[in-house]
Amino acid sequence: MSDLRHSPIMASVDFDVDGVQHGFLKLPYSRDDAAWGAIMIPVTVVRNGEGPTALLTGGNHGDEYEGPIALFDLATSLPADEITGRVIIVPAMNYPAFRVGRRTSPIDNGNMNRVFPGRPDGSVTEKIADYFQRFLLPLADMVLDIHSGGKTLDFLPFAAAHILPDKAQQARCVAAMEAFAAPYSVMLLEIDNVGMYDTAAEDLGKTFVSTELGGGGSASARTVAIARRGIRNVLKHAGILAGEIEREPSVKLNMPDASCFVTGESSGLLELCADLGDRVREGQVIARVHNVERSGLVPVEYCAGIDGILAGRHYPGLTQPGDVLAVVAVPET
Ligand code: CA
Repeated sequence: MSDLRHSPIMASVDFDVDGVQHGFLKLPYSRDDAAWGAIMIPVTVVRNGEGPTALLTGGNHGDEYEGPIALFDLATSLPADEITGRVIIVPAMNYPAFRVGRRTSPIDNGNMNRVFPGRPDGSVTEKIADYFQRFLLPLADMVLDIHSGGKTLDFLPFAAAHILPDKAQQARCVAAMEAFAAPYSVMLLEIDNVGMYDTAAEDLGKTFVSTELGGGGSASARTVAIARRGIRNVLKHAGILAGEIEREPSVKLNMPDASCFVTGESSGLLELCADLGDRVREGQVIARVHNVERSGLVPVEYCAGIDGILAGRHYPGLTQPGDVLAVVAVPET
């Protein structure tokens, strides 16, 4: 029987040593082009004495770029003497996926945000998840996981917290989300939360913040700036970085139930009838899907299920049944 305490991943950095260390989470991966090869996941640890630990991640999905840009950058620009405690930076969590610009891993098709708690004797993606679950998350007080929409979704730039059974923990998460100071702050309803990193961190009692900062498979100057400022704000909020939090007005949004999601039931050419940030009314046509197999057919129309603003949308021009076409969130009054 395999030792379930053991992880095949070895960190080349020592998480308990002061200073700045750049290294790797090294995961052996034997394959055709490297018989004794390994996946080398970049990691930076910055530590200065006793204090809180922040675990900062991007690239949980490999086609989301604000997190990796801002975190590779932070790794070059965070001197140990500017902090109190410890910052662990993993710019691209699902590194194999990140290297090929895909949401999921090219090795095992693993979706990092659906395989938690992972397995030490599982697939490559499960082994990475297991390492976070049993070795990195337990070190952390504050966990920030930076997402964007990837190639298939686009979002208003928002930071998010979840409704949690432990209201004291939820309040900690909301305070950290507010410190991130994205233009929008969302109490997020997850439609598919089994196996999520978010849930793993929250179940361990961590203060957890995630984001959706844009999408479409690239990053903009604006959304990268939001990520950079938000990361530093969260570190200040945690007491790790000194200085004032750079507050910006943030619109609070709620997602009360599944009526926030508009799911397509037809394939074809997508016409969104509202843009991100636009006000929409319940019953208003929010998307039309044009048949592409022949002319002369009227498009299938989809209506908003709730009053609110368009907070997310399907990004590619073509769509298929089951795609989330639109996400409507409700501004807090
Ligand atoms: Ca994502």
